[in-house]
Amino acid sequence: MTNQRGRFGIHGGQYIPETLMNAVIELEEAYDHYKNDPEFNRELRELFNEYAGRPSRLYYAEKMTKDLGGAKIYLKREDLNHTGAHKINNVLGQALLAKKMGKTRLIAETGAGQHGVASATAAALLGMECVVFMGEEDTVRQALNVYRMRLLGTEVVPVKSGTATLKDAVSEAMREWTSRISDTHYCLGSVMGPHPFPTIVRDFQAVISKEIKEQLLDKEGRLPDAVIACVGGGSNAIGSFYHFLEDREVKLIGCEAAGRGIDTFETAATISTGREGIFHGMKSYFCQDQYGQIAPVYSISAGLDYPGIGPEHAHLHDTGRAQYVPVTDEEAVCAFEYLARTEGIIPAIESAHAIAHAIKIAPVMNKDQIIVITISGRGDKDCAAIARYRGEDIHE
Ligand SMILES: *Cc1c(COP(=O)(O)O)cnc(C)c1O
Repeated sequence: MTNQRGRFGIHGGQYIPETLMNAVIELEEAYDHYKNDPEFNRELRELFNEYAGRPSRLYYAEKMTKDLGGAKIYLKREDLNHTGAHKINNVLGQALLAKKMGKTRLIAETGAGQHGVASATAAALLGMECVVFMGEEDTVRQALNVYRMRLLGTEVVPVKSGTATLKDAVSEAMREWTSRISDTHYCLGSVMGPHPFPTIVRDFQAVISKEIKEQLLDKEGRLPDAVIACVGGGSNAIGSFYHFLEDREVKLIGCEAAGRGIDTFETAATISTGREGIFHGMKSYFCQDQYGQIAPVYSISAGLDYPGIGPEHAHLHDTGRAQYVPVTDEEAVCAFEYLARTEGIIPAIESAHAIAHAIKIAPVMNKDQIIVITISGRGDKDCAAIARYRGEDIHE
């Protein structure tokens, strides 16, 4: 079932079974109402400010700037938010919306567990029931996050179908939503899936670029020359880009996980290696095998190894408004270590992909130019894996 709503160029749309149409229509109508409701927006702002700790800092990375010897570098510190990443912006927005719609139960998918933990957090705060679908493979690899979700009062359902990873968890959550629409909201974790999700999630994450713009105007009296963010599904990136889309002089750069390289099969770089397709309710670019099946993807960063990209990014790529670049595991790990040493900030390995690209371009830019890098999350969760990558076993 498709129609023309929710298109970004040729991408997006609603490629879903008839049984899900009522749910997405109800969601779209509710969102169209509440997004302009002053009371909804006041409550959301209060949750952002008082609970999540917004606005997040825009930090001038002076040592990094001097060390790289080119453009002035600012870091947008989403890692300082409650629960340690940008994901809280989306889940607070969706949970509040669901509550206004009279829903009492949230369901969510999770890969590494970050979106599951964020959803469990929002559900605990707003007094809602929560069920998180997680590939069985991932529940073993991310046992600590499974514990966190249960501690927060959430039920974690291991998904055994397919490769028992993130894409199967998304499929299972969609199936569950179909069977229980009356009291349940599907809290989707990135700017993907059928309309209206890519728009809703973008709007809740757009607070990132709204703040960047205000903070940089305050500090420098001008706009940045480039904004750089990592891209999995693309929520922190579109959130970082959104309020600059009309400012054509601001370069927007999304960093995809190249894994072991875009010339290998162990990659998750969708724009570099994928093709147009339809999956998880949307038209976009996806990593596919020679038969058009969704290809297994790989990255050292669990948060970036999704085989697709949000439809708005696919469109920004088509029009050339944003540029998408691949960053390998090795480059990301070096950037992870670099930021720790240089600024005393341990970034999420996802965010390290954005830092790696800034390290490449800052030195060849002028000293009067400005780069903003979004640090989408903090890196405590990644330390054991990075140590292992470097051949050290620290018995987490
Ligand atoms: C989940 C996650 C990402 C990837 O998700 P997007 O929707 O692409 O933002 C990036 N960074 C961190 C820290 C994450 O937890």
